[in-house]
Amino acid sequence: MKLNLAMKNRFAILIAISTAFFCSERLVADEPTTLEKPRMLMVTQSAGFCHGPVKREGDELISPAERAMKQIAARSGLFDVDYTQDVATHLTRENLQRYNLVAFYTSGDLPIAPENLKYLLDEWVRQPGHGFLGFHSASDTYKNHEAYWDFIGGSFDGHPWGQGTKVTIRVHDTSHPAMKPFGDELVLKEEIYQYVNWQPEKVHVLMSLDMAKTDKKMPYHVPVAWVKQVGEGRMYYNNLGHRNDTWENEQFLKSIEGAVRWIQGKEEGDATPNPEVSQEQQKLSVEAANAAGITVESIEAQKRANQARQAANQARKKAEEESSKRTESKQDATKSDK
Ligand SMILES: [Zn+2]
Repeated sequence: MKLNLAMKNRFAILIAISTAFFCSERLVADEPTTLEKPRMLMVTQSAGFCHGPVKREGDELISPAERAMKQIAARSGLFDVDYTQDVATHLTRENLQRYNLVAFYTSGDLPIAPENLKYLLDEWVRQPGHGFLGFHSASDTYKNHEAYWDFIGGSFDGHPWGQGTKVTIRVHDTSHPAMKPFGDELVLKEEIYQYVNWQPEKVHVLMSLDMAKTDKKMPYHVPVAWVKQVGEGRMYYNNLGHRNDTWENEQFLKSIEGAVRWIQGKEEGDATPNPEVSQEQQKLSVEAANAAGITVESIEAQKRANQARQAANQARKKAEEESSKRTESKQDATKSDK
């Protein structure tokens, strides 16, 4: 009887051990299962200008860009998405192990620990199946951090085309999954950036501002979206997304879905650098601007005139302030005379 009890106990212990093993195996097995569905970390933190589409609102405290990404994820079934406005906590080497996709709709110098930023750009993104999607002010992020702008391919340098401007955008690679929804031309109201640190020899330009069809003309190429192969990973950047209604534009949402399919290798798309496209667009932009009487020289002259006007205004203000100070001290002196 005693022996039986001991045996029973041993049995119980064995069952407990095997259950524990079973559970821990299940736990380990669960991780690859969750990884089977790719996961995106969408960063919508602004350390600089804060755009409407990333402002969280309503009971759900979700921003328009986040809501749109959630919708794309749900209906395409391609990925799940988490959002963060706290990169110091969530954009870490350890946490990145959970993700295959990182999207930035960010601005300014984000508080990502330097070693984690370096890991993101030098290692994480270069892995097969990994990809980075940059929207709008993702190029107005870390502008003084060369590793970042070199990774993106350019940095924000003003937006001569404000958010109310109706612009025509020419698609160069209509067969790329991220461009198919646009056809060969896209007309919409959007804020369009121009860039410094632009590196046409390193990127595959997908679409550019069609200077001939846009009212405000500038004598230089203005790329709007591009991709690049980064190691075995992929990078996609799109200027669009300043306006809330862009995040409701079905073509734009479809193009994000296409970009994800391309990053995941589910659909083919060229990422070969195409500096010849930038060169051709540069030529066409110069022609369109020159035809409207706008040249590099006239823009420079305009800039100098603006600067001179500003300097004159400042000088006048200063003189006015000084003269009013003098009047005040005279009045004070008169008062004390009495
Ligand atoms: Zn903007």
